[in-house]
Amino acid sequence: MFNTLSDRLTSVLNNLRGKGRLSEADIDATAREIRVALLEADVALPVVRTFIAKVKERAKGAEVSQALNPAQQVVKIVNEELIAILGGETRRLNLAKNPPSVIMLAGLQGAGKTTLAGKLAKWLRGQGHTPMLVACDLQRPNAVTQLQVVGERAGVPVFAPEPGNGVGDPVDVARRGIEEAKRAQHDIVLVDTAGRLGVDEEMMRQAIDIRAAVQPDEVLFVVDAMIGQDAVNTATAFRDGVGFTGVVLTKLDGDARGGAALSVREVTGQPILFASNGEKLEDFDVFHPDRMASRILGMGDMLTLIEQAEQAFDAEQAEAAAMKMGSGQLTLEDFLEQMLTLRKMGPIANLLGMLPGAGQMKDQLANLDEKHLDRVQAIIRGMTPAEREDPKIINASRRLRIANGSGVRVSDVNDLVNRFFEARKMMSQMAGRFGL
Ligand code: GDP
Repeated sequence: MFNTLSDRLTSVLNNLRGKGRLSEADIDATAREIRVALLEADVALPVVRTFIAKVKERAKGAEVSQALNPAQQVVKIVNEELIAILGGETRRLNLAKNPPSVIMLAGLQGAGKTTLAGKLAKWLRGQGHTPMLVACDLQRPNAVTQLQVVGERAGVPVFAPEPGNGVGDPVDVARRGIEEAKRAQHDIVLVDTAGRLGVDEEMMRQAIDIRAAVQPDEVLFVVDAMIGQDAVNTATAFRDGVGFTGVVLTKLDGDARGGAALSVREVTGQPILFASNGEKLEDFDVFHPDRMASRILGMGDMLTLIEQAEQAFDAEQAEAAAMKMGSGQLTLEDFLEQMLTLRKMGPIANLLGMLPGAGQMKDQLANLDEKHLDRVQAIIRGMTPAEREDPKIINASRRLRIANGSGVRVSDVNDLVNRFFEARKMMSQMAGRFGL
């Protein structure tokens, strides 16, 4: 559902690639484009404002990073701020110390409550729980039957008012449902409530009464992500009416712009616990803000790369190496160390493969580069410390010894040594030009 937003953000951020430094104007322009992309995706204006202000402030204040280039730094900031507006940490269900735990579902008619009750019940069963459903939606014709069908599919019992007794009192049904769950030793009770097409007082009253009667451990507000800006208004009305402890987004499989997903948490202050993305019982998952953010950014691999670069990078070591490069003093020992650092991040082919466009080259890279790097590593390891420190002393007889010791040809050793000298010369010339 985030395809359009994701495409937009990816292209905005891709424009930064290859820039050595970002000026304030670059950051402002990027922030403006991100703002438009979010607004077009229907994200609520106050949320967009806060988001953009934070990204701008952080991007401008960012220290020059040695592990990340400026574009990567901005991606990192945008990603972190996205995770923050989506709620930060993954929020798990709060369950009662003394079962049964009670989870009440609230939301507008058509939001997907009944379907969700089935999904949640099935998922909970998979987690080793013994849930029971309680049908308190006595408003909508067929709601009870629908819940019974869903319950059967999920393999969980449904407590419902006996047919033929008129409409019945949902509060009473809820209470009796909890009693039945205790008796039959179910550890979780899911209470489905009635919704209306729009927010109305009577519906809210009923939900408040049910809440008071069953004292739920969680009240989950179920909201259709496809209803756009309305989602935010509805969420606010439910928060101020019945109140809720968590949000479930449904219909994330739709092709709508999905700004609701990005606004609800920030506007209501309550976390998103689950996401529903289809009509089948399996189309459902725990909501992970970090995964959702990287999906929206469309840069999962790039983000992994950034994380790995930060972990593997040792700033002091790099600075020392840069100094040596500049003064033409780089040794083969330094070279080996840097190569090992890079390889700590994983196979080189994977690293390259994470860069956009390198996908098809992956197989070739895997064959070529790893073997070549293995060989380079073996050759350097076959040298004595003195040779690594001062490669000039590596004469013909030393080359032969190194080649034999590391299982390569003399020409491979020659190649490496010659290339090393060339690279060192080039680095020192470059450093001179940039005044390092
Ligand atoms: P309720 O009135 O809140 O109980 O909503 P229902 O559970 O009856 O759902 C309303 C409609 O939305 C039904 O046709 C469901 O099949 C459909 N629905 C529910 N969740 C999803 C979802 O995640 N994706 C899609 N595409 N449809 C859904």
